[in-house]
Amino acid sequence: MTSCVFCKIVASQSPAEIVHQDNRVTAFRDFQPVAPTHILIVPNRHIESVNNLESGDEALIGYMFSVAKELAARENIHENGYRLIINTGVDGGQSVFHLHLHLLGGQHMRNPIG
Ligand code: AMP
Repeated sequence: MTSCVFCKIVASQSPAEIVHQDNRVTAFRDFQPVAPTHILIVPNRHIESVNNLESGDEALIGYMFSVAKELAARENIHENGYRLIINTGVDGGQSVFHLHLHLLGGQHMRNPIG
C-alpha cells in the first residue's frame, strides 16, 4: 500500500533500523522506543490489523512469534523475559494500520496492562 509507512520500510523506501527481513516478515527498531529493546515485527504483505486476517494467515502469525523469539534471544532478553503486544484498532491503541507485533524487553515491565 503506497501510503503505508510500514510498507515503505518493508520496501526500503523509508529509513529504519532493520534487524531481520525475509520473504514473509520484516523486523525493525521502533523509532520511539519505550524499552531498551523495542522491535516491531510486521508482515511484508499489507494487513491492516488483526481484524483483517484471513483464513490461511495462521502460519504467518505463528511465524511472527517465532521471529520474535529468535530476536529476543539475539537481544539477550530471552532469559529475563519480554512482552509481546499487538494493538488492534483505536481502542486497542493502534496508531499505524499495518499489523505489527511489538517486542519489548530489557527492563521489568509495568502492570497492569491497560
Ligand atoms: P501502535 O501504536 O501499536 O500502532 O504502534 C506503532 C508503533 O510504530 C509506535 O510505537 C511508533 O513509535 C512506531 N513507528 C511509527 N512510525 C515508525 C517508523 N517510521 N519507524 C519506526 N517505528 C515507527
